[in-house]
Amino acid sequence: MMKTTIIIGAGGVGRVVTHKCVQNKDTFGRIILASRTLSKCKEIQSELPQGSLEVDTVDADNTQNVIDLIQKYDADIVINVALPYQDLTIMDACVATKTDYLDTANYEHPDEAKFEYKLQWQRDEAFKEAGVMALLGSGFDPGVTNVFCAYAQKHYFDEIHTIDILDCNAGDHGYAFATNFNPEINLREVSAKGRYWENGEWIETEPMEIKMVWDYPEVGPKDSYLLYHEEMESLVKHIKGLKRIRFFMTFGESYLTHMKCLENVGMLGIEPIEHQGQKIVPIEFLKTLLPDPASLGPHTKGKTNIGIVAEGIKDGKKKKIYIYQVSDHEACYKEVKSQAVSYTTGVPAMIGAKLMLEKKWYKEGVWNMEEFDPDPFMEELNKQGLPWKIQEL
Ligand code: NDP
Repeated sequence: MMKTTIIIGAGGVGRVVTHKCVQNKDTFGRIILASRTLSKCKEIQSELPQGSLEVDTVDADNTQNVIDLIQKYDADIVINVALPYQDLTIMDACVATKTDYLDTANYEHPDEAKFEYKLQWQRDEAFKEAGVMALLGSGFDPGVTNVFCAYAQKHYFDEIHTIDILDCNAGDHGYAFATNFNPEINLREVSAKGRYWENGEWIETEPMEIKMVWDYPEVGPKDSYLLYHEEMESLVKHIKGLKRIRFFMTFGESYLTHMKCLENVGMLGIEPIEHQGQKIVPIEFLKTLLPDPASLGPHTKGKTNIGIVAEGIKDGKKKKIYIYQVSDHEACYKEVKSQAVSYTTGVPAMIGAKLMLEKKWYKEGVWNMEEFDPDPFMEELNKQGLPWKIQEL
Protein backbone atom coordinates (compact mmCIF):
# COMPACT_ATOMS: atom_id res chain seq x y z
CA MET A 1 0.00 0.00 0.00
CA MET A 2 1.24 3.49 -0.79
CA LYS A 3 2.64 5.29 2.25
CA THR A 4 2.06 8.89 3.29
CA THR A 5 4.93 10.96 4.67
CA ILE A 6 4.70 14.34 6.41
CA ILE A 7 7.83 16.48 6.75
CA ILE A 8 7.53 19.34 9.28
CA GLY A 9 9.90 22.32 8.89
CA ALA A 10 10.83 24.00 5.62
CA GLY A 11 14.31 25.21 6.64
CA GLY A 12 17.76 24.19 5.42
CA VAL A 13 17.43 20.59 6.57
CA GLY A 14 13.77 20.38 5.51
CA ARG A 15 14.74 21.26 1.94
CA VAL A 16 17.25 18.38 1.77
CA VAL A 17 14.89 15.85 3.39
CA THR A 18 12.16 16.82 0.95
CA HIS A 19 14.40 16.52 -2.12
CA LYS A 20 15.71 13.17 -0.89
CA CYS A 21 12.25 11.76 -0.08
CA VAL A 22 11.07 12.74 -3.55
CA GLN A 23 14.16 10.99 -5.02
CA ASN A 24 13.00 7.88 -3.09
CA LYS A 25 9.29 8.26 -3.69
CA ASP A 26 8.68 4.53 -4.12
CA THR A 27 9.24 4.29 -0.37
CA PHE A 28 7.77 7.58 0.80
CA GLY A 29 4.66 7.60 -1.42
CA ARG A 30 2.58 10.71 -0.96
CA ILE A 31 4.83 13.45 0.47
CA ILE A 32 3.61 16.56 2.29
CA LEU A 33 5.89 19.38 3.48
CA ALA A 34 4.32 21.53 6.21
CA SER A 35 5.84 24.52 7.98
CA ARG A 36 4.76 27.72 9.69
CA THR A 37 5.37 29.72 6.53
CA LEU A 38 3.66 28.36 3.42
CA SER A 39 5.81 30.41 1.02
CA LYS A 40 8.93 28.53 2.18
CA CYS A 41 7.24 25.21 1.42
CA LYS A 42 6.17 26.50 -1.98
CA GLU A 43 9.69 27.58 -2.82
CA ILE A 44 10.93 24.03 -2.20
CA GLN A 45 7.98 22.65 -4.14
CA SER A 46 9.00 24.77 -7.14
CA GLU A 47 12.42 23.03 -7.21
CA LEU A 48 10.84 19.58 -7.60
CA PRO A 49 9.00 17.74 -10.39
CA GLN A 50 5.39 18.82 -10.66
CA GLY A 51 2.99 16.75 -8.57
CA SER A 52 5.73 15.14 -6.48
CA LEU A 53 5.13 17.28 -3.36
CA GLU A 54 2.13 18.75 -1.54
CA VAL A 55 2.48 21.68 0.87
CA ASP A 56 0.57 22.85 3.93
CA THR A 57 0.92 25.02 7.04
CA VAL A 58 1.17 23.94 10.66
CA ASP A 59 2.01 25.53 13.98
CA ALA A 60 3.97 22.67 15.48
CA ASP A 61 4.08 24.33 18.90
CA ASN A 62 0.45 23.29 19.18
CA THR A 63 -0.18 19.54 19.56
CA GLN A 64 -3.79 19.73 18.32
CA ASN A 65 -2.62 21.54 15.22
CA VAL A 66 -0.19 18.71 14.44
CA ILE A 67 -2.88 16.08 15.18
CA ASP A 68 -5.19 17.83 12.68
CA LEU A 69 -2.42 17.85 10.06
CA ILE A 70 -1.64 14.14 10.52
CA GLN A 71 -5.33 13.21 10.37
CA LYS A 72 -5.96 15.35 7.31
CA TYR A 73 -3.50 13.23 5.30
CA ASP A 74 -3.69 9.99 7.32
CA ALA A 75 0.13 9.97 7.53
CA ASP A 76 2.22 6.88 8.28
CA ILE A 77 5.27 8.82 9.47
CA VAL A 78 6.21 12.35 10.55
CA ILE A 79 9.76 13.54 9.89
CA ASN A 80 10.37 16.41 12.31
CA VAL A 81 12.95 18.84 10.97
CA ALA A 82 11.47 21.95 12.59
CA LEU A 83 13.32 23.14 15.69
CA PRO A 84 14.12 21.14 18.85
CA TYR A 85 11.46 23.19 20.67
CA GLN A 86 8.75 21.30 18.76
CA ASP A 87 9.92 17.74 19.51
CA LEU A 88 7.50 17.05 22.36
CA THR A 89 4.38 18.52 20.79
CA ILE A 90 5.01 16.56 17.59
CA MET A 91 5.79 13.36 19.53
CA ASP A 92 2.55 13.73 21.49
CA ALA A 93 0.59 14.24 18.27
CA CYS A 94 2.17 11.06 16.87
CA VAL A 95 1.13 9.06 19.95
CA ALA A 96 -2.41 10.45 19.75
CA THR A 97 -2.75 9.48 16.09
CA LYS A 98 -0.63 6.27 16.22
CA THR A 99 1.92 7.57 13.74
CA ASP A 100 5.66 6.85 13.54
CA TYR A 101 8.02 9.72 14.41
CA LEU A 102 11.60 10.73 13.59
CA ASP A 103 13.71 13.77 14.51
CA THR A 104 17.32 14.98 14.25
CA ALA A 105 17.83 16.93 17.48
CA ASN A 106 17.16 16.69 21.21
CA TYR A 107 14.23 18.48 22.74
CA GLU A 108 15.12 21.87 24.17
CA HIS A 109 12.93 24.28 26.07
CA PRO A 110 12.98 27.71 24.35
CA ASP A 111 13.74 29.46 27.65
CA GLU A 112 16.49 27.18 28.87
CA ALA A 113 19.69 26.39 26.96
CA LYS A 114 19.78 22.77 28.02
CA PHE A 115 19.18 19.67 25.97
CA GLU A 116 18.73 16.11 27.11
CA TYR A 117 16.81 13.00 26.12
CA LYS A 118 14.91 12.62 29.41
CA LEU A 119 11.55 14.00 28.31
CA GLN A 120 11.71 12.15 24.99
CA TRP A 121 12.76 8.83 26.56
CA GLN A 122 9.89 9.27 29.05
CA ARG A 123 7.48 8.86 26.16
CA ASP A 124 8.70 5.30 25.49
CA GLU A 125 5.70 3.66 27.21
CA ALA A 126 3.25 5.91 25.37
CA PHE A 127 4.77 4.98 22.00
CA LYS A 128 4.71 1.28 22.93
CA GLU A 129 1.05 1.50 24.01
CA ALA A 130 0.16 3.26 20.76
CA GLY A 131 2.07 0.55 18.86
CA VAL A 132 4.31 3.02 17.03
CA MET A 133 7.98 3.96 16.90
CA ALA A 134 10.04 7.10 17.52
CA LEU A 135 13.60 7.30 16.19
CA LEU A 136 15.58 10.06 17.91
CA GLY A 137 18.49 11.98 16.46
CA SER A 138 18.63 10.70 12.87
CA GLY A 139 20.85 13.50 11.50
CA PHE A 140 24.63 13.40 11.14
CA ASP A 141 25.70 14.12 14.69
CA PRO A 142 23.63 12.83 16.39
CA GLY A 143 22.71 10.21 13.83
CA VAL A 144 25.41 8.89 11.55
CA THR A 145 28.01 9.23 14.33
CA ASN A 146 25.90 6.87 16.49
CA VAL A 147 25.63 4.43 13.59
CA PHE A 148 29.43 4.61 13.05
CA CYS A 149 29.88 3.65 16.73
CA ALA A 150 27.43 0.75 16.41
CA TYR A 151 29.21 -0.40 13.22
CA ALA A 152 32.61 -0.28 14.95
CA GLN A 153 31.19 -2.26 17.85
CA LYS A 154 29.57 -4.86 15.59
CA HIS A 155 32.45 -5.49 13.16
CA TYR A 156 35.71 -4.33 14.74
CA PHE A 157 35.71 -4.69 18.53
CA ASP A 158 34.93 -7.00 21.40
CA GLU A 159 35.02 -3.92 23.61
CA ILE A 160 35.33 -0.24 22.76
CA HIS A 161 37.18 1.75 25.43
CA THR A 162 37.33 5.27 24.03
CA ILE A 163 35.48 7.20 21.34
CA ASP A 164 36.28 10.65 19.97
CA ILE A 165 33.67 12.16 17.68
CA LEU A 166 35.38 14.60 15.29
CA ASP A 167 33.30 17.18 13.44
CA CYS A 168 35.01 19.43 10.92
CA ASN A 169 33.37 22.01 8.71
CA ALA A 170 36.04 23.60 6.54
CA GLY A 171 33.48 25.49 4.47
CA ASP A 172 34.01 29.13 3.59
CA HIS A 173 30.88 31.24 2.89
CA GLY A 174 32.70 34.52 2.36
CA TYR A 175 31.05 36.40 5.27
CA ALA A 176 33.09 37.69 8.23
CA PHE A 177 30.57 35.99 10.51
CA ALA A 178 27.60 33.71 9.89
CA THR A 179 26.30 30.42 11.24
CA ASN A 180 25.74 27.36 9.10
CA PHE A 181 22.47 26.28 10.61
CA ASN A 182 19.88 27.85 12.84
CA PRO A 183 22.01 30.62 14.47
CA GLU A 184 20.27 30.44 17.81
CA ILE A 185 20.97 26.73 18.18
CA ASN A 186 24.49 27.06 16.78
CA LEU A 187 25.40 29.91 19.12
CA ARG A 188 23.87 28.25 22.14
CA GLU A 189 25.98 25.18 21.39
CA VAL A 190 29.34 26.96 21.28
CA SER A 191 28.79 29.35 24.18
CA ALA A 192 27.84 26.53 26.54
CA LYS A 193 30.26 24.78 28.90
CA GLY A 194 32.06 21.75 27.51
CA ARG A 195 31.46 18.28 28.93
CA TYR A 196 32.84 14.80 28.35
CA TRP A 197 32.34 11.42 30.01
CA GLU A 198 35.06 9.40 31.68
CA ASN A 199 34.84 6.35 33.98
CA GLY A 200 31.12 6.77 34.54
CA GLU A 201 31.17 10.50 35.26
CA TRP A 202 30.53 13.70 33.33
CA ILE A 203 33.40 16.16 33.53
CA GLU A 204 32.63 19.82 32.85
CA THR A 205 35.02 22.26 31.15
CA GLU A 206 34.82 25.99 30.45
CA PRO A 207 33.54 26.83 26.94
CA MET A 208 36.36 26.06 24.41
CA GLU A 209 38.79 25.16 27.21
CA ILE A 210 40.14 21.96 25.61
CA LYS A 211 41.63 22.24 22.15
CA MET A 212 43.55 19.86 19.91
CA VAL A 213 44.69 19.89 16.32
CA TRP A 214 43.36 16.98 14.25
CA ASP A 215 44.45 16.19 10.72
CA TYR A 216 41.16 15.56 8.88
CA PRO A 217 41.54 13.45 5.72
CA GLU A 218 40.84 15.47 2.53
CA VAL A 219 40.74 18.69 4.62
CA GLY A 220 43.98 19.00 6.61
CA PRO A 221 44.86 19.92 10.20
CA LYS A 222 42.31 22.06 12.05
CA ASP A 223 41.84 23.47 15.56
CA SER A 224 39.20 21.29 17.21
CA TYR A 225 37.47 22.17 20.49
CA LEU A 226 35.82 19.93 23.03
CA LEU A 227 32.07 20.51 23.31
CA TYR A 228 29.17 18.67 24.87
CA HIS A 229 27.08 17.00 22.20
CA GLU A 230 23.85 15.14 22.65
CA GLU A 231 24.73 11.77 21.10
CA MET A 232 27.10 11.10 24.01
CA GLU A 233 24.13 10.82 26.38
CA SER A 234 22.77 7.75 24.61
CA LEU A 235 26.12 6.27 23.52
CA VAL A 236 27.39 5.96 27.11
CA LYS A 237 24.35 3.77 27.79
CA HIS A 238 24.66 1.57 24.72
CA ILE A 239 28.36 1.00 23.91
CA LYS A 240 29.80 -1.95 25.82
CA GLY A 241 32.83 -1.36 28.08
CA LEU A 242 33.15 2.33 27.21
CA LYS A 243 35.58 4.24 29.46
CA ARG A 244 35.65 7.66 27.80
CA ILE A 245 33.78 9.58 25.11
CA ARG A 246 34.49 13.10 23.86
CA PHE A 247 33.22 15.34 21.08
CA PHE A 248 35.35 17.84 19.14
CA MET A 249 34.28 20.45 16.60
CA THR A 250 36.43 22.73 14.46
CA PHE A 251 36.10 26.50 14.71
CA GLY A 252 38.06 29.12 12.84
CA GLU A 253 39.76 31.95 14.71
CA SER A 254 37.57 34.66 13.16
CA TYR A 255 34.41 32.83 14.16
CA LEU A 256 35.57 32.49 17.77
CA THR A 257 36.65 36.12 18.02
CA HIS A 258 33.23 37.28 16.80
CA MET A 259 31.55 34.94 19.25
CA LYS A 260 33.61 36.23 22.16
CA CYS A 261 32.75 39.86 21.35
CA LEU A 262 29.06 39.07 20.96
CA GLU A 263 29.09 37.22 24.25
CA ASN A 264 30.95 40.01 26.03
CA VAL A 265 28.38 42.61 24.98
CA GLY A 266 25.45 40.36 25.89
CA MET A 267 24.24 39.59 22.37
CA LEU A 268 24.05 35.84 23.05
CA GLY A 269 21.60 36.29 25.94
CA ILE A 270 18.45 34.20 25.88
CA GLU A 271 16.61 36.25 28.54
CA PRO A 272 14.33 39.04 27.28
CA ILE A 273 15.62 42.56 27.93
CA GLU A 274 13.78 45.89 27.90
CA HIS A 275 14.55 48.03 24.83
CA GLN A 276 12.65 51.30 24.31
CA GLY A 277 9.56 49.93 26.00
CA GLN A 278 9.74 46.61 24.17
CA LYS A 279 10.99 43.23 25.30
CA ILE A 280 13.58 41.65 23.05
CA VAL A 281 15.70 38.52 23.37
CA PRO A 282 19.28 39.44 22.35
CA ILE A 283 20.09 36.18 20.57
CA GLU A 284 16.83 36.38 18.59
CA PHE A 285 17.68 39.92 17.52
CA LEU A 286 21.14 38.75 16.49
CA LYS A 287 19.49 36.03 14.40
CA THR A 288 17.60 38.75 12.56
CA LEU A 289 20.88 40.50 11.73
CA LEU A 290 22.78 37.43 10.53
CA PRO A 291 22.43 35.95 7.05
CA ASP A 292 19.76 33.24 6.80
CA PRO A 293 21.70 29.94 6.82
CA ALA A 294 19.67 28.84 3.81
CA SER A 295 21.13 31.77 1.84
CA LEU A 296 24.72 30.62 2.47
CA GLY A 297 24.37 27.62 0.17
CA PRO A 298 25.25 29.22 -3.14
CA HIS A 299 28.39 30.88 -1.70
CA THR A 300 29.87 28.09 0.38
CA LYS A 301 32.98 26.29 -0.81
CA GLY A 302 35.10 23.59 0.79
CA LYS A 303 34.46 20.34 2.60
CA THR A 304 33.08 18.80 5.76
CA ASN A 305 34.54 15.74 7.43
CA ILE A 306 32.69 14.13 10.33
CA GLY A 307 33.68 10.84 11.90
CA ILE A 308 34.60 8.81 14.94
CA VAL A 309 37.86 7.38 16.25
CA ALA A 310 37.28 4.28 18.37
CA GLU A 311 39.90 2.46 20.41
CA GLY A 312 39.51 -0.86 22.19
CA ILE A 313 40.17 -4.58 22.16
CA LYS A 314 39.60 -7.30 19.53
CA ASP A 315 40.64 -10.91 20.20
CA GLY A 316 42.80 -9.76 23.09
CA LYS A 317 44.67 -7.18 20.98
CA LYS A 318 44.53 -3.37 20.99
CA LYS A 319 42.82 -1.82 18.00
CA LYS A 320 42.06 1.72 16.79
CA ILE A 321 39.88 2.69 13.83
CA TYR A 322 38.64 5.89 12.19
CA ILE A 323 35.34 5.97 10.29
CA TYR A 324 34.54 9.24 8.52
CA GLN A 325 32.50 10.88 5.80
CA VAL A 326 33.61 13.76 3.61
CA SER A 327 31.09 16.01 1.85
CA ASP A 328 31.68 18.88 -0.54
CA HIS A 329 29.57 22.04 -0.09
CA GLU A 330 29.38 22.87 -3.79
CA ALA A 331 28.46 19.33 -4.83
CA CYS A 332 25.64 19.28 -2.24
CA TYR A 333 24.36 22.61 -3.46
CA LYS A 334 24.36 21.40 -7.02
CA GLU A 335 22.25 18.37 -6.13
CA VAL A 336 19.63 19.75 -3.70
CA LYS A 337 20.24 23.53 -3.39
CA SER A 338 21.66 23.30 0.14
CA GLN A 339 25.19 23.36 1.54
CA ALA A 340 26.79 20.35 3.19
CA VAL A 341 25.70 21.02 6.80
CA SER A 342 22.03 20.78 5.85
CA TYR A 343 22.80 17.97 3.38
CA THR A 344 24.63 15.79 5.87
CA THR A 345 21.70 16.18 8.29
CA GLY A 346 18.85 15.78 5.80
CA VAL A 347 20.11 12.66 4.05
CA PRO A 348 20.33 10.57 7.28
CA ALA A 349 16.87 11.81 8.32
CA MET A 350 15.52 10.46 5.04
CA ILE A 351 17.45 7.18 5.45
CA GLY A 352 16.15 6.64 9.01
CA ALA A 353 12.58 7.18 7.83
CA LYS A 354 13.14 4.89 4.83
CA LEU A 355 14.37 2.04 7.03
CA MET A 356 11.37 2.55 9.34
CA LEU A 357 8.85 2.50 6.47
CA GLU A 358 10.53 -0.60 5.01
CA LYS A 359 10.41 -2.16 8.51
CA LYS A 360 14.16 -2.83 8.37
CA TRP A 361 14.50 -0.71 11.49
CA TYR A 362 11.30 -1.14 13.41
CA LYS A 363 10.55 -1.54 17.11
CA GLU A 364 7.69 -0.03 19.05
CA GLY A 365 8.76 2.62 21.56
CA VAL A 366 11.36 5.40 21.62
CA TRP A 367 14.85 4.50 20.34
CA ASN A 368 18.27 5.94 19.57
CA MET A 369 20.20 5.16 16.41
CA GLU A 370 22.84 2.83 17.87
CA GLU A 371 20.14 0.45 19.12
CA PHE A 372 19.58 -0.88 15.59
CA ASP A 373 21.67 -3.02 13.21
CA PRO A 374 24.03 -0.46 11.60
CA ASP A 375 24.55 -2.43 8.37
CA PRO A 376 21.46 -1.38 6.35
CA PHE A 377 22.01 2.26 7.35
CA MET A 378 25.69 2.15 6.35
CA GLU A 379 24.69 0.67 2.98
CA GLU A 380 22.12 3.42 2.37
CA LEU A 381 24.69 6.13 3.21
CA ASN A 382 26.82 4.89 0.32
CA LYS A 383 23.84 4.86 -2.04
CA GLN A 384 22.20 8.15 -1.03
CA GLY A 385 25.12 10.59 -1.31
CA LEU A 386 27.12 10.16 1.92
CA PRO A 387 29.85 7.59 1.14
CA TRP A 388 32.11 6.85 4.13
CA LYS A 389 35.61 5.50 4.64
CA ILE A 390 37.28 3.43 7.28
CA GLN A 391 40.96 3.45 8.33
CA GLU A 392 42.89 1.36 10.84
CA LEU A 393 45.10 3.72 12.84
P1 NDP B 1 15.98 26.22 10.10
O1 NDP B 1 15.83 27.28 11.12
O2 NDP B 1 16.59 26.50 8.79
O3 NDP B 1 14.55 25.58 9.82
C1 NDP B 1 13.62 25.26 10.79
C2 NDP B 1 12.24 25.31 10.16
O4 NDP B 1 11.31 24.93 11.16
C3 NDP B 1 11.87 26.70 9.69
O5 NDP B 1 11.60 26.64 8.33
C4 NDP B 1 10.64 27.04 10.52
O6 NDP B 1 9.52 27.45 9.85
C5 NDP B 1 10.18 25.70 11.03
N1 NDP B 1 9.49 25.91 12.29
C6 NDP B 1 9.97 26.52 13.40
N2 NDP B 1 9.03 26.57 14.34
C7 NDP B 1 7.93 25.98 13.82
C8 NDP B 1 6.64 25.74 14.30
N3 NDP B 1 6.27 26.10 15.54
N4 NDP B 1 5.76 25.14 13.50
C9 NDP B 1 6.11 24.77 12.25
N5 NDP B 1 7.32 24.97 11.73
C10 NDP B 1 8.22 25.58 12.50
O7 NDP B 1 16.77 25.02 10.84
P2 NDP B 1 17.57 23.82 10.15
O8 NDP B 1 16.84 23.34 8.96
O9 NDP B 1 18.98 24.19 10.04
O10 NDP B 1 17.48 22.70 11.31
C11 NDP B 1 16.35 21.87 11.46
C12 NDP B 1 16.58 20.90 12.60
O11 NDP B 1 17.71 20.09 12.34
C13 NDP B 1 16.86 21.57 13.93
O12 NDP B 1 16.15 20.87 14.94
C14 NDP B 1 18.34 21.40 14.14
O13 NDP B 1 18.71 21.37 15.49
C15 NDP B 1 18.55 20.05 13.49
N6 NDP B 1 19.94 19.81 13.07
C16 NDP B 1 20.49 18.57 13.37
C17 NDP B 1 21.79 18.28 12.99
C18 NDP B 1 22.33 16.90 13.21
O14 NDP B 1 23.37 16.58 12.65
N7 NDP B 1 21.69 16.03 13.97
C19 NDP B 1 22.64 19.28 12.32
C20 NDP B 1 21.94 20.50 11.94
C21 NDP B 1 20.65 20.74 12.35
P3 NDP B 1 9.16 28.74 9.03
O15 NDP B 1 10.40 29.14 8.32
O16 NDP B 1 8.10 28.21 8.16
O17 NDP B 1 8.71 29.78 9.98
